[in-house]
Amino acid sequence: SLILGIETSCDETSAAVIRDGHEVLSNIISSQVEIHQKFGGVVPEVASRRHVKNITFVMEEALEKAGVELDDLSAVAVTYGPGLVGALLVGVAAGKAVAYAKSIPLIGVHHIAGHIYANFLAGGMEPPLVALVVSGGHTELIYMAEHGKFQFLGRTRDDAAGEAYDKVARSMGLPYPGGPVIDKLAHEGNPNAILFPRAWLEEGSLDFSFSGLKSAVINALHNAEQRGEKLEPADVAAGFQESVVDVLVEKTVLAVRQTGVSNVVVAGGVAANRGLRTKLQERAAKEGFTAMCPPLSLCTDNAAMIAAAAYPFYEKGWFHNLDLNAHASLPLTKWEEGPFVILS
Ligand code: ATP
Ligand code: MG
Ligand code: FE
Repeated sequence: SLILGIETSCDETSAAVIRDGHEVLSNIISSQVEIHQKFGGVVPEVASRRHVKNITFVMEEALEKAGVELDDLSAVAVTYGPGLVGALLVGVAAGKAVAYAKSIPLIGVHHIAGHIYANFLAGGMEPPLVALVVSGGHTELIYMAEHGKFQFLGRTRDDAAGEAYDKVARSMGLPYPGGPVIDKLAHEGNPNAILFPRAWLEEGSLDFSFSGLKSAVINALHNAEQRGEKLEPADVAAGFQESVVDVLVEKTVLAVRQTGVSNVVVAGGVAANRGLRTKLQERAAKEGFTAMCPPLSLCTDNAAMIAAAAYPFYEKGWFHNLDLNAHASLPLTKWEEGPFVILS
């Protein structure tokens, strides 16, 4: 099968063609980062207009690079939530147009399911497993009993991990997005020079909280400034990253113990973090479970992961109607229920 994936939930316009659910024939990503950098974050209206400008071109390039024609496609998979509604609408409209014009099935995909399925593109790991989702808008521990079935074990009570990286970077005067910049700086700093708090919450809790840590970093910067001193940015980055990674990894270990699974996948932009990847592998080896992170290029938003997440539904013959609409706050557990049109 050949599935065309489309992703426009935030500031990346992306289209991809994947074969049989796992082989990436093309994965074109047009990033708007430079445009939004000026504003220190994504401006929704600007993002939507950019998607409109890019989408046709990006889809054509994905087909061309894969060496396939619209007529060769088996199905179209498109992100329909969660995300910026104006941005999502562009992808949904494009996906529906292709499905309608070529009379092929349409499969609406949950963006976070896509992030999780980035792992299945890279060789894959079979459920049951625990997914640590760490992106710009989400931080969650999810139990996946089988393909397309998700159960929440814990989630952030305030900021997402990527959001904390972006906000801390901003307070340090570093460019957007902050994650990659802080990650790089952290490797040049001493993680023990400045000790930042870790929010473990209640005993046994798999929830997260990053706003206290964010405030602690901002206060430390502010206090140093008032004393007429300047903290070493690399040490601030290293101390902050150590605190984030410590909590993410230990809560993942706890989730593995509580569920008894032996496989863990990491998903979302923060899965690209070097500190997180290293520490998780070390702990996994010690605890005796297997941990997997997507290749760096598949951690942040891309359409290949969306097509991959659609594949189990394609195989089952579960499709969406052409009245599919964008859903800004689509819940993951709602997505797996449909509404699907089941063709047998
Ligand atoms: P969501 O998927 O929740 O809708 P999003 O699509 O905006 O949000 P992603 O594309 O998954 O988020 O990831 C972007 C986030 O990942 C940003 O917050 C960015 O700072 C962070 N990020 C990217 N690379 C790294 C890194 N190496 N270390 C830490 N964070 C990173
Ligand atoms: Mg993005
Ligand atoms: Fe994302």
